[in-house]
This record gives sequence, structure tokens and C-alpha cells, in this order.
Amino acid sequence: MSQPPNSIRHDSHQEQFLTILSREEALARFEAAVFPWAIPTEERTLAEALGLALAGDVTAPIDVPPFDRSNVDGFAVRAADLAAASEALPARLTLNAESIACGTVPQLPVLAGTATAIATGGPLPRGADAIIMVEHTQPAGAGVIEVRRGVSPGQFVSNAGSDMARGEVVLRTGTVIGAREIGMLAACGVSRVTVARRPRVAILSTGDELVQPGAPLRQAGIYDANGPIISAAVTENGGEADFLGAFPDDEAALERAMRDALAAHDMLILSGGTSKGAGDVSYRILGRLGSPGVIAHGVALKPGKPLCLAVCDGKPVVILPGFPTSAMFTFHDMIVPVLRRMAGLPPRVDAQVTARVPFRVPSELGRTEFVMVSLVEGQDGLAAYPTGKGSGAITSFTQADGFIRIEPLADHIPAGSELPVTLFTPQVRVPDLVVIGSHCTGLDLVVGALSRGGTSVRSLAVGSLGGLAAAKRGECDLAPIHLFDPKTQSYNAPFLGDGLELVPGWRRMQGFAFRQGDKRFGGMSAEEAIRAALSNPDCMMVNRNQGSGTRILIDQLLGSARPDGYWNQPRSHNAVAAAIAQERADWGVTIAPVAHAAGLAFIPLTEEHYDFALVSARKERPAVQAFLATLQLPEIQAVLEEAGFTRAD
Ligand code: AMP
Ligand code: MG
Repeated sequence: MSQPPNSIRHDSHQEQFLTILSREEALARFEAAVFPWAIPTEERTLAEALGLALAGDVTAPIDVPPFDRSNVDGFAVRAADLAAASEALPARLTLNAESIACGTVPQLPVLAGTATAIATGGPLPRGADAIIMVEHTQPAGAGVIEVRRGVSPGQFVSNAGSDMARGEVVLRTGTVIGAREIGMLAACGVSRVTVARRPRVAILSTGDELVQPGAPLRQAGIYDANGPIISAAVTENGGEADFLGAFPDDEAALERAMRDALAAHDMLILSGGTSKGAGDVSYRILGRLGSPGVIAHGVALKPGKPLCLAVCDGKPVVILPGFPTSAMFTFHDMIVPVLRRMAGLPPRVDAQVTARVPFRVPSELGRTEFVMVSLVEGQDGLAAYPTGKGSGAITSFTQADGFIRIEPLADHIPAGSELPVTLFTPQVRVPDLVVIGSHCTGLDLVVGALSRGGTSVRSLAVGSLGGLAAAKRGECDLAPIHLFDPKTQSYNAPFLGDGLELVPGWRRMQGFAFRQGDKRFGGMSAEEAIRAALSNPDCMMVNRNQGSGTRILIDQLLGSARPDGYWNQPRSHNAVAAAIAQERADWGVTIAPVAHAAGLAFIPLTEEHYDFALVSARKERPAVQAFLATLQLPEIQAVLEEAGFTRAD
């Protein structure tokens, strides 16, 4: 990397990155630099004000209801006329020659000894002071009714202004406009309100590798996930999101884009380029955009340490870490409080539940750590099951129900601890069926059919061994596994132990995968292909992780050979296929459906058994029975076969 033109500036950046602030300190400094923030206001129609905060008190311009109004269908009367009425001595009232419907202006007074028919919502005529319900009267000849009970003055009457009185403050500054507030405002005739204008937030992704969703993915490219995530989260928290696209790591071009964005917006949020890798340039620009500049670069958060907070001439500028999960957590924890205050909105309140962590959760000392969890109904209450695949994995978010927070002074959470779980959505719905273990595209077919039938399923891919452990702890109903036991030369059954039983799944053909047209392996048997690969020093293999069934098979095939690529040990069939397709390796062992989906050539070796370890204690649960039944359906067997799997028997 070339030396920056101004070495003093470079040093000051070094320093900032070395000074890691605690989460609380960073937030306090950031808020102190942003606030007070003069919230701009604007007038909006009721419909357009939904979700915004009122910027001024609203007083009722009229009385609601605007007149004394009947609450029931009946007759407008003078209470005094009925004071002596009883079963023995009914009062007789003469009906006036009008009937008051909603929207009718009464023409005739109710004089002593008379009554006027009135509908619910009708305005009270002059002279009347109460309503008698129609059910409590009897017709007594033409134009006369009989009443056998008294009424108190004001009975079934709503007086003018009893709901909202003219001049009364009905909604206060800061109230967030929802459907109920819109109803109140409409009822007193208000059609426009003054609200806090949404802060205009420019969002900008940085990275040479980024491609916008919808465009074809180029080599070494990845789709821009942060742009859409942050835009949506800004909107969810009262901002007006303006996504400006992804910019390459070009300092001059990025600086221009940031200056333009800052001129036209209240706040600027970038992602990526905040760590000190080659090409990480965005944080360097901050010092030149306005004072005071960088407030914090490096916060004791996990994930999210490279977070960079700045204020440039009064406007917050934030660089979120590049990894989508880190970007999300830091946004919600550190940026949302500031954004909501700028929008005039109250602090966000996230729903929480209490759950037990099933095993010891290690944590880094000195950082506030967020651990995503999915909730599972355990033997005694909710269990919070960490789901993180690392901060680079976007699916961690969609599979999790919420997160636990581990304070900086804790280096672990002991097994069995009860902790608050902050929920991503207010209603946790514990799924009907929980499947934890090895992933298979065939499993998706079965789960899909179950879901369509109304059974909600959570399926977590943690590998066979992780699934077995979860099953032994009773945290799932089923653990899909494919474990080969070399001693007995058999799959899965030897691994079960007490409390678990085997449900046969299907077979997956394992084989030697290579690129179509690679002449080194074309037309060979699997044994010939392996021999050819081992005798050619230019041939690069891709292995599998320790503990996987495929690895055991590979080690048997290799014997004592350790060809180039042996130490490349990804954890999934898909990763093996991707390595070969992208020419990072020339051959590997994977299953047929995955090899075919990646467009690879495939020589069959042996069948792997993909079965289910069923927690016996959960066997009678309806969702488990539904799963077992679905597995047997002829149409499911047919789609599995079509996808390249074969029956277990
Ligand atoms: P960086 O902070 O720029 O070094 O990025 C860290 C990691 O996050 C890299 O793997 C990036 O490819 C990834 N990343 C950065 N920006 C995005 C984005 N907008 N969407 C998805 N991944 C990203
Ligand atoms: Mg980057």
C-alpha cells in the first residue's frame, strides 16, 4: 500500500483504531456530539403521518360529539315525566310527529308528556333530557307509548364534548401516529398535522467485490446484503432511507460520493472498509468531512469491533463493519438510539423472554458480546440455542429468534444459566418440530411438504455430531445424521445410545467429482480416477472436515497419501463442489445431487446413509408423527428419488 500523503493524519488514525472504547463510552460520546439536534418539522396529511412523531400538541377544534347524542334506539323523553312510572302504574307518552335518525336535525320540541322516536347517534331534541330504550316501552294505540319504569336524567345520552372538548389537548408532542391516533384526529376534523420530519439517511455500501442483487455475480463477487438490510432497518426506525448503491474502494471517488451524500442528507451510513485491511479506505475520509470528525473507531463489541462513529459538522456519519451480521448488531445497538432520537421517536423497546442456555457459552473478556439464539421448547421451559455460524453468515439472523448479551466482564455463561433473550420479533412462536443436525437438500423437500401441511419446522444445520448432541440433550425432535463407524463398517446406528432411535432416511451416492471435460479423469472408474489423481503432482484435491462421514471415506481411499490440497477441509458437500467448479481444486468427494447441481462430472463410489436420530421421548408428539408419515408418502419418496436420493430399504 502506498504511503498516505499526510503522515501525521495517518498516525492519528492509527491511534484512533488502537483506542478501543467500551460500548457505553462510545455511545455516550456519539450522542453528546450529535445532540441537541434541532428536529425539522413538516406538515403531513393523516395518512402520510402514519408512524411519525407529532411535533406539536394537537387541541380539539370542536366538541366531540358536537351535540348531545342518543346512545341507543328508543325515545327522547323528559325524565320527570317518568318519575312515577312502574309496572302497576305505567306512564303514557304521546309521540311527536317526527323520528330522528342519524344526521337528522330535530324540528319539534319534546314537551311535557311527549316523546320523540330517536335512533342511536341521533341528536337530542330541545326539551328532552334522557332516552328510554325501545325495549322498555310498549305501543299503546296510535301515536302513544306506555312506559313501566323510570329513567334518570341524562340516561343513554352522550353530551357534547364528553369525548373530546373543544380546546382540549388530545395528542401531545412526541406521540407516534398510529391508526388509533389517526382515528382521534379524524373524529375532531383534523386532516393535517405537524410532525417531526424523518431524518434523511444516505446509505452507501463500499467494496470492490460488491454486486447489486439482480445483476449476475462475477468471479470473486458477492451480493451487497448490507445496502438493503440497512435501508430497511433505517425505515423501520423512523428514517427516510436513500440507498445510493455500492462504491468501489477508491478513496477519491468515495470521498466525492460521501461529500455529496452528506450535503443532501441528515445522516450518512456506510458499511465496509473500516478495518485496516488493504483497500479499507472509508474511515480515512472521515477526518476531512467536517469537525469534530471521528468520535470512536473501534468499539468493544462482538461482533462489530471495527465500528466507526463520526460527527461531521453536526451530522452523524457511521461506518458499519462489512460483515452483514456485525453491521446489523452495531446498527441496532449503537445507531438506532441516535436515529430514533433524531426522528423524535421514543427509544425502541424490544420484547424479551427468559430462557436457559443448554451448554457453556464461551465469551471474549472485555467486549460486549451478542450471541444469536434460537428458542426451543426444552424439558423445563425455553432453551436458548446459539445459532451463530460466525459474523459472516447472514442466515444466522433468519434462523435466530433473538440474542443474548454477554457483558464484557464475563468470559463465559455457565451451562444452565437463565438469561433474558431479546427477541427479533415480539411474538416468538416455538416451532412444532425442531430438526438439528446435518443438512441435506432432500431434507428441504420433506420439510417443505410438512410446512405446506401447516406444521412449522425449524431446521438448524450444525453437522451430524452437533445434531446428535442436541438430540441427547432433548433439544430437538430429530437429528439428521450420516456418521460412518469404521469398526462395525456401518452407518449411524452405532452412534445412538440411550433415548434415541433410528428412523431410516435415504441414501446419497458419494462419488469422485471433477470438472466436466477434465481428460485426466474422463471415462475412468472411481479407483482409476483416485490412482490417476494421486500419481499426478499437479492434481489438487479438496478434503472434508474431521468427523464427517465423507472424511472417513476419503481417508480410506487415500491410505497414507497426503496429496496437495489435503489440508483444505471445508465442512459441507456444497463447499467441496464450489472449490472444484471454481478451479481451486481439481477433485474431491461429494454427493451426486450436489455435484450435478454444480455442473460437475461424477463417478459413483459408495452410498452414504442419511438417517434420523429420533428422541424417543418425543416420538408421540403430533409434529413428529406428521414428519414420520410425510417421510413415507409415495409422492415424497418420488421427489426424493427424482432429486437423486434412493430409498433406505
Ligand atoms: P470490510 O469491512 O470491507 O473489510 O468487509 C468485511 C467483510 O464483509 C468482507 O468479507 C466483505 O466482502 C463483506 N462485506 C462488506 N460489505 C458488504 C456488503 N455490503 N454486503 C455483504 N457483505 C459485505
Ligand atoms: Mg471492504
